[in-house]
Amino acid sequence: MRIVVIAALVLTTTGMSADPGLVEAVSEPNVFAHVQDLAEIGKLHGNRAVGTAGYEASAQYVESVLRAAGYQVTSQTFTLPHYREVTPAVLTTASGPVSAVTFVYSPSGRASGPAQDVGTGCRLSDWAGFRRGSIAVAGRGECSFKVKADWAGRAGAGALIVVNSKPGELRGSLGAPGAKLPVVGVAPEAEIEGQVTVETNTTSSTKVTRNVIAQTAQGDPDDVLVLGAHLDSVEAGPGINDNGSGVAVVLEIAEQMARMRPQRAVRFAFWGAEEVGLVGSTHYVKGLSPQDKAKIAGYVNLDMVATKNHANGIYDSDNAIETAAWEFYQRRGLPAEEVAFDGRSDYGPFMKAGIPSGGIFTGAEDIKTLDQAQKYGGVGNQSYDPCYHKLCDTIENVNRQVLDVSGDAVAHIVERLAFSGSPVR
Ligand SMILES: [Zn+2]
Repeated sequence: MRIVVIAALVLTTTGMSADPGLVEAVSEPNVFAHVQDLAEIGKLHGNRAVGTAGYEASAQYVESVLRAAGYQVTSQTFTLPHYREVTPAVLTTASGPVSAVTFVYSPSGRASGPAQDVGTGCRLSDWAGFRRGSIAVAGRGECSFKVKADWAGRAGAGALIVVNSKPGELRGSLGAPGAKLPVVGVAPEAEIEGQVTVETNTTSSTKVTRNVIAQTAQGDPDDVLVLGAHLDSVEAGPGINDNGSGVAVVLEIAEQMARMRPQRAVRFAFWGAEEVGLVGSTHYVKGLSPQDKAKIAGYVNLDMVATKNHANGIYDSDNAIETAAWEFYQRRGLPAEEVAFDGRSDYGPFMKAGIPSGGIFTGAEDIKTLDQAQKYGGVGNQSYDPCYHKLCDTIENVNRQVLDVSGDAVAHIVERLAFSGSPVR
């Protein structure tokens, strides 16, 4: 009986409180501990890029932290094409080497055989007399490069060479991974005769990756604040300021909020494949029904929030997210400034879908001005983050003071927006 009374009392006070204490609850050592764990994963795997073991380890880490805090965690898997040319194409003919360009999404391979002309290679009749194992030589035009490649594959060609109809080497794309044979482009004057050898060296595949998502059990599920950070790094390095820092802040907020009673439900999102074109967040937003979309009051994005040579950037989003961020820095007596709200991170798809978005950002590869150095300290005429997208974006690249302030700033924004039902617009 007594327990019931206390529970009811707690519910009432927190429900009515203007200050639920999220800023007080969020602690830098907790946030930093997550950054360290992600840095260990980065060290072990070299990077945490989409489609790698380092990304999967990061996703499993986030899941385990959320589950331990009592959340039901969901994964949203999606696929994306991946292509990279490892070394340039090599094309040799009886009369010597010919300059050729690998088509995007051409597989790796090496094939030798007699060159055989197939016209444009778009029609069955073009391939009527084709001898299997020959190297098909097709003119540009009449159908897509993919259609030509499909015909060549069915006809048993060892490789396909597409000849440009305009001046210059032909650069083309097959649109997606999955072609069966090497495909290269050449200039119109290229002489492809006799015995030829085509060699391509690429990685072309379809990657499967995922977003990781959890939501507070408390708060109105029809009126949700989404808090998100991209979980993947670039291939060049472990991505600890970009974006282990943002991930760590979201995790700490989620852990602290597991015990709180917000008015709005808060959804925590860890996006995959941001670094290759906002793929995870785009996939997520595209998958929302109009009803799902209408239930999202706003989206707060964190992408780099512990920059070494920092500035306190607030996305210039002209809404309640920006207002709450300004309020935080002003109350702390800290300088801050608007930064471009241009869709360069995962808020882009939300913005395009008309969902009020915003967030904070402490600087990437751009140069800090001398004025900013006066304002924030640090070094002017130097990059905010000299390790941006590099191997050195490790635990050493994290500014703990900035991480501390950013964690509090996000907590303040969430307090303002999730513990009241006022519009985010
Ligand atoms: Zn980033």
